Amino acid sequence: MSLTGRSVAVFALGGTIATTADPLTGGLSPALSAEQLLRSVSGLDALGVELRVHDFRRLPSASLSLADLDALHAAIREELDSGRVDGVVVVQGTDTIEETAFYLDLLHQGEEPVVFTGAMRDATKAGPDGPANLYAAVIAAAGPWLRGAGCVVVLGDEVHAARTVRKSHTTSPAAFTSPGSGPLGLVAEARVMLHQHLPRRITGPPDTGGTAGPRPVRVALHTVAFGDDGTQLDLLDGQCDGLVLAALGAGHVPEWLVPRLRRLADRIPVVLTSRIDHGPVLTRTYDYPGSERDLLAGGLIAGGDLSPYKARLLLLRLLSTGCHDRTRIAEAFAAIGRRGW
Ligand code: ASP
Repeated sequence: MSLTGRSVAVFALGGTIATTADPLTGGLSPALSAEQLLRSVSGLDALGVELRVHDFRRLPSASLSLADLDALHAAIREELDSGRVDGVVVVQGTDTIEETAFYLDLLHQGEEPVVFTGAMRDATKAGPDGPANLYAAVIAAAGPWLRGAGCVVVLGDEVHAARTVRKSHTTSPAAFTSPGSGPLGLVAEARVMLHQHLPRRITGPPDTGGTAGPRPVRVALHTVAFGDDGTQLDLLDGQCDGLVLAALGAGHVPEWLVPRLRRLADRIPVVLTSRIDHGPVLTRTYDYPGSERDLLAGGLIAGGDLSPYKARLLLLRLLSTGCHDRTRIAEAFAAIGRRGW
């Protein structure tokens, strides 16, 4: 299929793909504009895709904020509502891309794909992957293949759903995986080849905050480690509006943490996820003090197979849009947190 005449909005936010090296120290920091990034992509002009370029931020992705993402969502909506573009590319750092893409996926209601990309190797390295990733992302955003897919991440020519994608390596150019499901498809020969049917999408709650928009809330993330004595959980008590627990195995904690977690769950939503990369938390298998059954009976909410990082963003979004009801929060996690939509 020819992409000539299709149109894509490109939002550049920074990251390794946009870095240059300091001439004295050699240290990398984001400096390149969106135009400069696109100029480095050979073959892009030949696609015939019209690009509407936005130099949106120039930051390492660790320093992007929720306010930046809300602003990005508004800017993307403006482009899509105008009917000028067939899809969107967001170019950013890979450190937080699994979270930013998921958060935008909760917000994005349109049919047009929003394709996140970046680079593991900067332009000073042998074999930088940024230009190839950007090229593949533009193809994925311009074509019809991913309509209805919501937000996806395209790196190393693979297309991953925002819901599943993880950064699984600190340096490898093949760092991105979708544990359990694998990638949705592949970009090759200027098209997307899908490996699986597009998953049914469930987006997050709409704003109910009136003109004020989402309310700032604090959701903490606590990872349980061997011998965890509860000191950190005690410090969090009273300091947050919600808590995500990255528990051991399929959702387990030392038995002496249970009274603390029950007390917390009486007051704020506490979501049970696993610190393991693959698989869901269980709900009805183990039954000892500190097991998943014990914790769920004590008021914790099952997070399905959402990673702790994505669960934190879903809880944040629910709370900031005024959803505090435990049953409704549990329903949202049952719908979005469970595989097999
Ligand atoms: N530190 C960089 C960032 O996330 C890493 C990258 O872009 O790959 O901004």
